[in-house]
Amino acid sequence: MKKILIYNTLSRKKEEFKPLKAGHLSFYYCGPTVYWTQHIGNLRGSVCADLIHRTFKYLNYDVSMTRNYTDVGHLTSDEDSGEDKMEKTAKKESLNPDQIAEKYIKIYEEDTSKINILEPKYKPKATENIEQMIDLIQVLMAKGYAYATDLAIYFDISKFENYTSLSRQKLEKNKSGAGSGDFSDVNKRNSADFSLWFFRAGEHKNALQYWPSPFFSTLVENGQGFPGWHLECSAMIKRYLGNTIDIHMGGIEHVSVHHTNEIAQSEAANGVKLANYWLHNEHLLVNDGKMSKSQGTSYSLGEVEEKGFKPLALRYFFLQSHYRSKQNFTFEALKGAQKGLSNIESKIFKLGEEVGEVNNDFKEKFLNYLLDDFNLPKSLAIIPEILKSDLSNQDKLATILDLDQVWGLNLEAVFKKQKEGGLDEKIKEIIKERDEARKNKDFIKSDELRNKLEDLGYKVEDSIDGTSVSKL
Ligand code: AMP
Ligand code: ZN
Repeated sequence: MKKILIYNTLSRKKEEFKPLKAGHLSFYYCGPTVYWTQHIGNLRGSVCADLIHRTFKYLNYDVSMTRNYTDVGHLTSDEDSGEDKMEKTAKKESLNPDQIAEKYIKIYEEDTSKINILEPKYKPKATENIEQMIDLIQVLMAKGYAYATDLAIYFDISKFENYTSLSRQKLEKNKSGAGSGDFSDVNKRNSADFSLWFFRAGEHKNALQYWPSPFFSTLVENGQGFPGWHLECSAMIKRYLGNTIDIHMGGIEHVSVHHTNEIAQSEAANGVKLANYWLHNEHLLVNDGKMSKSQGTSYSLGEVEEKGFKPLALRYFFLQSHYRSKQNFTFEALKGAQKGLSNIESKIFKLGEEVGEVNNDFKEKFLNYLLDDFNLPKSLAIIPEILKSDLSNQDKLATILDLDQVWGLNLEAVFKKQKEGGLDEKIKEIIKERDEARKNKDFIKSDELRNKLEDLGYKVEDSIDGTSVSKL
């Protein structure tokens, strides 16, 4: 087996991947805070993690992937200040936080399924792991890493050596870097100490989500409160994957605060390294700024679909940039991706319905890209090479479908469509006629032809490339 090279944020270098257990990968990805519809920037992160998941599966690893849902404790600032994001939306939408979580998890899962993201093995919600979080805090208290004030239980960063090993930040210069937003608690020892548990007191005295705890505050009964966002991941990693895992991944902005704090808590409590490899995906940009809901520069998958784009075109667009590179989003670029993907699909469609042998030379070339820090953008160039090669159509098909296990473009569906019998001439004729009618803005005729296609057993979808149909 060839070496897998992975860029590790810890060392800022590409390193050879060595699993904790041969043939097994334990993999944690910091999932979404489920208080709104995730935008396509968030989805880029989910696709990046999916590509790593799929790569290891392709290499025959047994992958234990965990992607959590944060449904409590993530405040409007990542640095522990402000309101709980879930509660803010709950008030706005007149629902309770559980209903908000349910609503937005459903939308996220529909979206991730549309862009063909594999299901992780575990998808825990933070609120299902409160007991584990309390246990972890108790260990940290017992070991002297945590202390209580009347407002919160904090992690004392001065007790943890190498607190900045991941971020390489100078805390003196950048105090706000690591969990320091809440200066309202005068009893906090260091400004960068971060909360493990918020008591239902002070600015959180009306918190809607809270649990009893064994911790003491003079301001509440039964230690009532809720966990800090950073702690949640540490507790879920421990429960679902163990004290040390192979790969921990998340968005690049998590290096300086969230992941730095996860390392401090987990390593202080467990006495062992949290993750051997830290991977960070870069952001999706709009006009050179991070796609962001609060700045009004974000689109959801639903909005992109309404403009006539297919979810898999978005996936193909994401595949064109390496996970460690920023990617600029424009509808023009997405249009290019959609064209590119339909071009590939129509060529595959023409390859026929027989699947031959996977070609080893192309597979080898593909692996060389893949094993070099998941260089998927480069690997896409193999598609035209295969199509132009002198392999038989059957072998071309077999090879492309094999590699698509990692790309996840669902090219098998195109081939299956072919297998079920291509579109007959009559259908093609109606589609042509309908596209003509739409071009001439003759919507009455276009609707008539849609009904005709549906009567003949085809579902009709409009896209910027024109009418596309699939068997009902
Ligand atoms: P949030 O809901 O803000 O906690 O973000 C959820 C996830 O989406 C985090 O892992 C972020 O790193 C990621 N994310 C947010 N904005 C972007 C973006 N513009 N591009 C890529 N990932 C993003
Ligand atoms: Zn996390």
